[in-house]
Amino acid sequence: MKRRLCLKYIGAVVASAPLLPRLSWAEHVGKGESMETITHSDAEWRALLSPKAYDVLRHAGTEPAFSSPLNKEYGEGIYVCAGCALPLFESSAKFDSGTGWPSFFQPIDGHVDTQLDFKIIIPRHEYHCVRCGGHQGHVFKDGPKPTGQRWCNNGVALSFKPTLENAATTKP
Ligand SMILES: [Zn+2]
Repeated sequence: MKRRLCLKYIGAVVASAPLLPRLSWAEHVGKGESMETITHSDAEWRALLSPKAYDVLRHAGTEPAFSSPLNKEYGEGIYVCAGCALPLFESSAKFDSGTGWPSFFQPIDGHVDTQLDFKIIIPRHEYHCVRCGGHQGHVFKDGPKPTGQRWCNNGVALSFKPTLENAATTKP
């Protein structure tokens, strides 16, 4: 009888051991994120952003290929909009396209919007952050599986946030 009680107790302790699910940054940061539009005047954006980020985000500029350190960033984390910090891509969707620009096969659902762009005459699908409208890059149909898409992003329009786990173990 005593032994049975003891086993019952151990079982209860094991059953109540805390389960720590490993959440992605999208789950940590993306959920509950306010999607209310962020607007600033052109002068305010100019003051808020670096000159290069301002040119890309607010005037659809393009950074030179291979100029962004994020092109070769393969750490685990999340890529957020450099204009308003809305999470746009997960590191698990990043791949090396060889183009010299950070490339992803899919964005975080609902966080970017696309529109046709005729800047180089040939129609391309421009995409931008849904919250601040900041231009990020162009999406093409020559990407890898599972989507076949290549979201070609200007590195200067993004900021990389390593996962909490990595950030805690990385010493300066
Ligand atoms: Zn934004």
